[in-house]
Amino acid sequence: MKNDYRETVEYLLHWYDLNARILEWRSNPKPYYVWISEIMLQQTRVEAVKSYFDRFIKELPTIKDLAAVEEDRLMKLWEGLGYYNRARNLKKAAIIVMEQYNGELPANREELKKLPGIGSYTSGAIGSIAFQLPVAAVDGNVLRVMKRIAGSFDDITKEKVKKELEEDIEAIIPKDRPGDYNQSLMELGATVCLPNGKPLCNQCPVMHLCKAFHNGDELKIPVKPKKKERVIEEKTVLVMECAGYYAIRKRTEKGLLHGLWELPNIEGKLSINQMEETIKTLAPYAKVERKLGEAKHIFSHKEWHMIGYYIKVERIEDVPIPELIWVDNQSIRKDYSLPTAFEAYRKELN
Ligand code: SF4
Repeated sequence: MKNDYRETVEYLLHWYDLNARILEWRSNPKPYYVWISEIMLQQTRVEAVKSYFDRFIKELPTIKDLAAVEEDRLMKLWEGLGYYNRARNLKKAAIIVMEQYNGELPANREELKKLPGIGSYTSGAIGSIAFQLPVAAVDGNVLRVMKRIAGSFDDITKEKVKKELEEDIEAIIPKDRPGDYNQSLMELGATVCLPNGKPLCNQCPVMHLCKAFHNGDELKIPVKPKKKERVIEEKTVLVMECAGYYAIRKRTEKGLLHGLWELPNIEGKLSINQMEETIKTLAPYAKVERKLGEAKHIFSHKEWHMIGYYIKVERIEDVPIPELIWVDNQSIRKDYSLPTAFEAYRKELN
């Protein structure tokens, strides 16, 4: 069977040698570093991950440290990266690695896949980059690049399509540099064969092999069915302040952003008059000082459309809402993880 990708190996490795961005987890590809970076890089760009990675490794330099970290501290280290279950799974997996693998990640793809949060892509990335196993690491980036090269209109959301691509890659992956080949595909997808808008084909090392380019199909590929529309939830966010202390509360232990801290909020977008009426019932002596404007936050399946109000409180005892705790901004920054969803209102905390 003809493999569309065999000829890419030489060109991509040469390009990667000259163009790979220098990153801590590449220069020093310890299994632990590769694992943490790959989990952070899901849904987040390299540039944004760098500082999170440095901070995380400085505080939790080994798998043993990760296994022992307090949940609240872990959430604080992850604050702003979103998809917090990724961090929870890291800790769960670290505990298993300590208990069952003598503190070392296993150099075996199937064993890696048994760990929480490690699927086919991540096990392929850790396996090939940290242990030099000849395995594929296929994510959305790699699917896009490879389907463009092959000029294929396959639906890339289908598991079967992904599986076949893994097999095609594993048939040609260079045994001496499997991690570099996988990373060259990831790097090409991140910097040249871009996802939204026109790819930079004139800078591409495999342009001469790319069917999508030759057929003028680079914007039609990859093919994926339209996503379901997101559910919209409206909220009113309260920045409640009392002498430099702000009210926050812990979200429930289940559902979206569970276990993190948040600014108090109520369902629906209230007008200023409705807010004034509502606050009378929540905290009779509190005063709506000003409207803070609207904000939007997009999750994978949901959108929050928010409006905010700054509420001034004379005495904390006048706010009979037991789940609230009152903390100053410095403590919030240091010890409490407020999700990015509240970013627009967080700047009001001085
Ligand atoms: S030629 Fe263009 S479409 Fe083809 S792989 Fe390169 S950047 Fe992507």
